[in-house]
Amino acid sequence: MRYYSTNLSTPPASLEDVVIKSLASDKGLYMPERIPTLDDAIIKSLKTKSFAEIGDIVAQAYFGDDMPREELSEIVYDTLSFDTPVVQVDDNVFSLELFHGPTLAFKDVGARFMARMLGYFIRRKGLDNEVNVLVATSGDTGGAVANGFLGVEGIRVFVLYPKGKVSPIQECQFTTLGKNITALEIDGTFDDCQALVKAAFADADLNSSMNLTSANSINVARFLPQSFYYFNAYAQLDAIGKADNLIVSVPSGNFGNLTSGLFAWRMGLPVKRFIAANNRNDVFLEYLRSGRYNPRESVETYANAMDVGNPSNFARILDLFGDNHHAISSLIAGFSYADEQIAQIIKAVSSKYAYLVDPHGACGYQALADYGLKSTETGVFLETAHPAKFKETVDLILGGNMAIPPKLAAFMQGSKNSISLSKSFQDFKQYIYELRVES
Ligand SMILES: *Cc1c(COP(=O)(O)O)cnc(C)c1O
Repeated sequence: MRYYSTNLSTPPASLEDVVIKSLASDKGLYMPERIPTLDDAIIKSLKTKSFAEIGDIVAQAYFGDDMPREELSEIVYDTLSFDTPVVQVDDNVFSLELFHGPTLAFKDVGARFMARMLGYFIRRKGLDNEVNVLVATSGDTGGAVANGFLGVEGIRVFVLYPKGKVSPIQECQFTTLGKNITALEIDGTFDDCQALVKAAFADADLNSSMNLTSANSINVARFLPQSFYYFNAYAQLDAIGKADNLIVSVPSGNFGNLTSGLFAWRMGLPVKRFIAANNRNDVFLEYLRSGRYNPRESVETYANAMDVGNPSNFARILDLFGDNHHAISSLIAGFSYADEQIAQIIKAVSSKYAYLVDPHGACGYQALADYGLKSTETGVFLETAHPAKFKETVDLILGGNMAIPPKLAAFMQGSKNSISLSKSFQDFKQYIYELRVES
């Protein structure tokens, strides 16, 4: 299968090339030329299968022609060593818990899959120089990417994070690992970190002398595997007779997760409606309502992994629907919540159902309620992070002191190691340029 750029100004490329490069040279996002479909009979058979078996079926449909089937299965089984269970919250409302991976965030699936697939292509291509993954993080992405790529041969990861602006738990997840993971503490904001990464990709010297790539959801190998858990949710609901008229609510920031859900739907997964749940950063909601897209600076919220003012995967959504606003707004509904509302939702869900949602999942839950589920419909919201990852916020709202799960606590045992840099591109460039000379 070949992949084309959403900007259509560069020739289609192979899976190997798009995974190594991430972004097309015309700055577009890569899309598969064909979306494979799964027969109804296969979809009906999923209810007896494990998450890894389901992931393998979906992965083979996309990537099976581009690498040996056994190697691909190995990547899938290695990635999906944990489950994404659906948990019933109310009669027809379910939480799809995506936080049972190593860093307790849904990004674990995409990060682990991409690391393994990129590692495979580097070996196959016999690249002489290692590939350098640059990733800017406001907290959550850094941990998932660092842990997903830890120890993968031929790859070096640089995590850029804003000094003093990520929580202690998040910081430990990428500063204590060592090996091929280097944490760069930037004296600036998340936007400054992102600007450094963008400047590096645009810098001719750096690009001509080293292989640079990105591990955010612009990379096909990171965003597409997220479609696995939509199939897994369907399978679990089908097994209990609750899969008809499915409404899926997705807490959204860069829209990689929702876009992978749309791919699952295109492959034949019966979903009646998607909901994009946003915090106050709601340019997508505005687009749904008006047909106009006005990217703007993000604002800080409790649900900070969704503090995105110009979602990168919007281009993919437009492309999927041929820029047809009517088609997009008929399939996807949107809601947005301010911090005061998020706090209210966390309290209400906790007291009504004794179920703890994190600030992102809170938006997803409430969007189902505000959508107005009918008794014949089943609603699933994606719980994208374990609430303990946002302990400071959740404790503040509930006035409690949440226990930290052992998996998270283990990260806090390690010793922190990071390199301090200013936000100037010259400093950053000099730092990674010198590494190139050494290696
Ligand atoms: C990254 C993230 C999101 C947003 O996902 P996108 O794919 O960027 O839309 C939502 N919740 C949490 C906890 C996240 O880490």
